[in-house]
Amino acid sequence: MKKVLTILLVLTQTLAWSQDNYCGTEMSEDQMTWLRNWQLENLSIAGSTREDDIIYVPLKVHVVGNDEGGGYISLNILMQDICDLNDQFAPTGFYFYIYEGINYINNSDYYNHDWLNGAYMMSENNVANVVNMYFVGDPAGNCGYFSPSGNAMAVANACAGIGNSTIAHELGHFFSLPHTFYGWEWGTPSLSEQEQVDGDNCVFAADGFCDTPPDYAPYRWNCSGPPTFTDPDGVEFQPDGTYYMSYSNDECTDKFSPLQQEAMIANINGPRDELLAYDPIVITDVDTTTLLFPEDLQENLFSNYAELSWASVENAEAYIVLVSLTVNFTAIAASIYTTDTSAIITNLLPEKTYRWKVKVVGEGNTCEGYNTYRTFSTGAETFSPTSIEDIDGTAAMQLYPNPVALGGMVNVTVDGQMDGQWQVRMMDITGRQVMNSTETMAQGRLQLEMPATQAGMYIIQLSNGDKFFQSAIQVN
Ligand SMILES: [Zn+2]
Repeated sequence: MKKVLTILLVLTQTLAWSQDNYCGTEMSEDQMTWLRNWQLENLSIAGSTREDDIIYVPLKVHVVGNDEGGGYISLNILMQDICDLNDQFAPTGFYFYIYEGINYINNSDYYNHDWLNGAYMMSENNVANVVNMYFVGDPAGNCGYFSPSGNAMAVANACAGIGNSTIAHELGHFFSLPHTFYGWEWGTPSLSEQEQVDGDNCVFAADGFCDTPPDYAPYRWNCSGPPTFTDPDGVEFQPDGTYYMSYSNDECTDKFSPLQQEAMIANINGPRDELLAYDPIVITDVDTTTLLFPEDLQENLFSNYAELSWASVENAEAYIVLVSLTVNFTAIAASIYTTDTSAIITNLLPEKTYRWKVKVVGEGNTCEGYNTYRTFSTGAETFSPTSIEDIDGTAAMQLYPNPVALGGMVNVTVDGQMDGQWQVRMMDITGRQVMNSTETMAQGRLQLEMPATQAGMYIIQLSNGDKFFQSAIQVN
């Protein structure tokens, strides 16, 4: 018992420590050279070539979980984050949109990663010519970082809550912005490199932006009690905590400076112009949906097999289903991103009351609200199919052999022979998840290894963000 306690304590300390370091970004020499040159040519914004056009930026969202598919960031928070991000970047004209759905990755080494595994994660999963962002448990002990060599960002789920500015901060790095306290990350810079309050050395010292005042605080600080510093001229000052690129608390920050904005615009039109190669998206309004099944207050749903359905909505790109034990949806039991108009929830508790609602996601639009929630309750009885026909197979998915031997290989095919990446989930008849992984279908077929320990009926679900298939298999 004592040993368990010790391990728990160590774990707690590690986790508490892990987000102490706000940002792990080290800007590359290439980035800094580009920025310094741009700054020398753009000492003020008088020569701005700024247009009012919206710059659409494709954002590839990678949601990373552990090996068992646990620990994902809540989709509700993620959608709100992207919505807020577009408010934060509105003065810059950047509009981020989810590029081709969400990529789920289940890998414990990536979920809580060190620098090396973070590099592997990025090189294995980055999509070319878009902005890649990974939502993980622990990004190498930081709240987040941008890796110039990996050319992607990793953000801790715990630092990506609603109202965060970590995502905007890391994107600032991605588009060439250093910290406002640049140079102080590695100790006290020489006097000539310490930015003066009078602005005399603002072009050369620190971040090189003359419209961001001196900042010597390379640690988390709260704007309600800012630290006081003395500049090389002996002038006392307090840093400005409203900049996203500072380390002040998230709730203090609300801006990029005009020159920071201009630099990011020049960056996307220069070294990052591959991001501009896409057709502009059309930001679509979407209505809320109508929940179809179950009826409000319906009782005795199977906790291991609750099917929920809702009406299709015009212009919908996807739907997000949330199931929660609480009326304010703080305790999320299930959060599913789907292009389908139904979902089967397999991980509920028996004899509990749940609320559920569905958010409609339109192209470039993650901001619309949910419908009013409905309530249902689960019964004591769980779903235990006695025959394969009991499960509403779509008949468009074939499994063979079926039955299959314990630990045997089963071949999966679907109508249309849709090659590519599929999210595969397998549940036993109690609803317990025994597999959740990404598999590749090639030449219309993918192979799965069945559990080796327990015979019985299993449910296999395949989804690729566009199509959903489900069928049952008997393991003997
Ligand atoms: Zn940073």
